[in-house]
Amino acid sequence: MTTEQETPTASTPTSVPFRAEVRQLLDILARSLYTDREIFLRELISNASDALSRMQFEMLTNREVQDPDAELAIWISADTEARTVTIKDTGIGMTREELIENLGTIAQSGARAFLQQAREGQHDTSNIIGQFGVGFYSVFMVADRVTVTSRSYQPEAEAAQWEATGDDTFLIGPAEQATRGTTIVLHLKEDAAEFANTWRLEQTIKRHSDFVSFPIYIEERRVNQQQALWRRPPREVEADQYPTFYKQLTLDMDEPLLHIHLSTDVPVDLHAILFVPTHRERGLIERRVEGKIKLYSRKVLIQEDSKNLLPNHFRFIEGVVDSEDLPLNVSRESVQSNPVMQRISKTLSSRLIRELSDLAEKDAEKYKVFWNEFGVFIKEGIATDFTGRNDLLKLLRFHTTHAGDELTALADYKSRMIDGQEEIYYVTASDLEAARRSPHLDPLLARNIEVVLFTDVMDSFMLTGLREYEGMKFRNIDDANLELPGTADAAESSISDDDFERLRERFATTLGDRVQEVRASKVLRNSPSRLVSAEDAPGREMQRVQQLLGRETTVTPRILELNRAHPLIAHLAQRVVNNADDPIVIACAEQLYDNALLLEGVHPNPAAMVPRIYELLEAVAKRPETE
Ligand code: ADP
Ligand code: MG
Repeated sequence: MTTEQETPTASTPTSVPFRAEVRQLLDILARSLYTDREIFLRELISNASDALSRMQFEMLTNREVQDPDAELAIWISADTEARTVTIKDTGIGMTREELIENLGTIAQSGARAFLQQAREGQHDTSNIIGQFGVGFYSVFMVADRVTVTSRSYQPEAEAAQWEATGDDTFLIGPAEQATRGTTIVLHLKEDAAEFANTWRLEQTIKRHSDFVSFPIYIEERRVNQQQALWRRPPREVEADQYPTFYKQLTLDMDEPLLHIHLSTDVPVDLHAILFVPTHRERGLIERRVEGKIKLYSRKVLIQEDSKNLLPNHFRFIEGVVDSEDLPLNVSRESVQSNPVMQRISKTLSSRLIRELSDLAEKDAEKYKVFWNEFGVFIKEGIATDFTGRNDLLKLLRFHTTHAGDELTALADYKSRMIDGQEEIYYVTASDLEAARRSPHLDPLLARNIEVVLFTDVMDSFMLTGLREYEGMKFRNIDDANLELPGTADAAESSISDDDFERLRERFATTLGDRVQEVRASKVLRNSPSRLVSAEDAPGREMQRVQQLLGRETTVTPRILELNRAHPLIAHLAQRVVNNADDPIVIACAEQLYDNALLLEGVHPNPAAMVPRIYELLEAVAKRPETE
């Protein structure tokens, strides 16, 4: 215990300085020209609602509280003459120490982030306040004096009062308040007089706090929604209520891309509204990519941000889940091992997949937005979720050699397979441009076989878990022993076996340990060379992930294949006949090897190629133009 707490409460208020960061925040807010100052009410109602939820949760296990029978609600009133607004709740309340701690420092992450931005001067703060949820202190945008009177739910606690005028200190002292909860009185600034008006307050509540799950009364009249939106039958909900609810829930200013409203009582009682946002990164500043799922049981908020309700790869989903079947009298932790939770989780996740598949079918443009923003999460799910993988494969989209800019689904790919094709062929490359230039495509394009183009690090990560789709294996076309259906004409070689063998040896000695072998290719047509992997090279996709992340610089040796029918290879063979140590041949061997790594995006140091390219350019430039 600190000495301060041991000192008997003085009957006159004590002055306590605010922490420096609060002073800075107050300063900004008081001077702010922010036009939507009405958000102060959203912040106060949200705090009251939090306090009520905590009270409700406490009473699940503890009846030894102040005023156990008080209605859990928020009352708001205004006095136009006195220019005041009063917000009262029967929530958990605060002790004297809690008032000092909670209202004298900044706990809130949103306010903290806001302050950070304001200090760095990166944004015009007057435009962005609303997106942060700057918390309690936002009252100082509209008030020049604020008193908070509170009585904690703990039966022996005494009421206390906190008062501040927006300067460097606040006052803390004793108070008279017979019942549990918090009452906040705002003395409005002259230019904020509009808020001492019940109509203005009601309008603001409708806009920002309509879906708060406790009653909000203005002069004994309930002004917010009577019944939680998610508990209403979906057909009775008007379309525009979903985006409004979403915005109030998340503070995201954009409309959601998709909403799903589920209401069932068998096999479990379940009422839920889930949202897919339009953007992965929401909010200018906090860059939130993870959504929050609020979990209610019998109208009691039991988890503010339930992490175990949806599989990890759906963590971008926002929403509310409510079930009568979850036991109330459990700790927040044990909910996670509950079998009902697992049922709910399954139901939600299969419904999400179904709705997303429907979206893909009915609105390709919208699905494309979804895929571009959240495709990485689906790929992650395919890599890591053994049981859900097959369902997630329906959502997968990719580019291919045959579909131009269009995205292809596995079902489309399957429908375009050639006679006798039993595998799904893919190539990995640094980007689409490189993928389309991959030498590995030669034999497949010659047979008109479509190839999936996998280009980003998440693709490679996904491949670590992806084995097959509807019985068809995924096959990397850089496999050394790839056997293809269909036929293609053989390319004619113009060099003798002896000449080729000499060139092959020159390449092998030049590249040394970096290659496993140099050999003639049976399949290349348009490209001079390629690097192939011995089939079943262990952990190859994972190694690629590591390489792409820059974590691994060693490259497992592969087989370099040369195209005997390619003019470049023929010329090089001729040069070796003329001069076994020709430096141009050595430089070309190095460059062909580097090109292969480059196209795959795994070259450890592309800049190192530049001196060699100069050398080759010089050799070309030296030759007379007539040659
Ligand atoms: P946040 O709500 O994000 O924690 P705020 O600045 O809005 O940040 O509020 C600061 C703290 O003050 C809250 O965390 C809470 O502990 C306390 N508080 C604010 N309003 C109330 C209230 N009406 N009842 C009980 N505690 C409250
Ligand atoms: Mg708050």
